[in-house]
Amino acid sequence: MTADPIAIARDLVRCRSVTPEEGGALSFLQGLLAQAGFTVHRAIFAEPGTAPIDNLYARIGIAKPNLVFAGHTDVVPAGHEASWSHPPFAGEVAGDMLYGRGAVDMKGGIACFVAAALDYLDANAGKPRGSISLLITGDEESDAVNGTVKLLQWAAEHGEKFDHCILGEPSNVEVVGDTIKAGRRGSLNGTLIVTGRQGHVAYPVRADNPIRGLVTLISALQAPLDQGSEHFAPSNLEFTSVDVGNPTVNLIPGEARARFNIRYNDRHSQIALKTLIEQRAQAAAAGRVHYSFTWQPSNADVFVTKPGPFTDLAVAAIAEVTGRSPQLSTSGGTSDARFIKDYCPVLEFGLVGQTMHAVDECTPVADLVTLTAIYRRIIEKYFA
Ligand SMILES: [Zn+2]
Repeated sequence: MTADPIAIARDLVRCRSVTPEEGGALSFLQGLLAQAGFTVHRAIFAEPGTAPIDNLYARIGIAKPNLVFAGHTDVVPAGHEASWSHPPFAGEVAGDMLYGRGAVDMKGGIACFVAAALDYLDANAGKPRGSISLLITGDEESDAVNGTVKLLQWAAEHGEKFDHCILGEPSNVEVVGDTIKAGRRGSLNGTLIVTGRQGHVAYPVRADNPIRGLVTLISALQAPLDQGSEHFAPSNLEFTSVDVGNPTVNLIPGEARARFNIRYNDRHSQIALKTLIEQRAQAAAAGRVHYSFTWQPSNADVFVTKPGPFTDLAVAAIAEVTGRSPQLSTSGGTSDARFIKDYCPVLEFGLVGQTMHAVDECTPVADLVTLTAIYRRIIEKYFA
């Protein structure tokens, strides 16, 4: 059984799997995994108003524990292809680098895990002591509604249980082995609307300018939300837009609004955070500013995978292969880990993220070899 992560990564990059296109990427994986003895399922999910998406679940073994690797084969568009020094879907290796869209985010990571799993099976008469699974979606980079959320539900309905998950997103900052993501902040979007009374700019006493009140409230809402927690940096509220939409010069507007996003840590729940913001606004308004909030629904709750045997195992595997002791980080944006954490503990560990979504996305070939060795050690230790 071939287990060359570079060859697998090149073949994956050559599939034009820009969301929502499957592009042959899942079929390629299905072939590889089926040949190695995995039972492979494909599940297409659809919803009105969204493109149907192809997903894959593969498993070898029936016993516990079930170690699941999660990832996505879809990629963001290449943008202006002529700006790339190597074509984005050619899978070219130049010098010691593999170029292409998805090289790090995250076809490279998938290739490493597949190579590691096949190598482990090869060394163990084709059977894990337990089960190895892959949960691969084609809908991570876009709407993420017909992907991991539904695939997890599908798996649960089919009696699949997961014990631990590695999500292969590019987690490292500078070098492979510097960072494991062990949680993510929550994300919440809101709009603050201040209403006043419209009027002529020359007669301000007859009007009530909502911009004054908006400025007061914006200023109050920018006070620190907390001082951080054991596993997280301080939460942050960031205003992203202030809108009046007034095309004229002599009119005091009747309404002003501001949009904001909060990245919050484990000192808050969504409900408590909304209450806190609304209380601060109420105090600052002091009965003189008329305002309201609207909140966008959010499925991005904060979570942390607390240090424990699984984290220790991953840290040890990384140290044995690279000599580095990875930082356990909860920084960055949200990922599909926010859905997986409802089913089992999840750690994110993959390639180095620097060129993700950029022109000339690329990874050192050596990183693919290193990551494969790390995944291989993790599997070995997990079933030891
Ligand atoms: Zn990704």
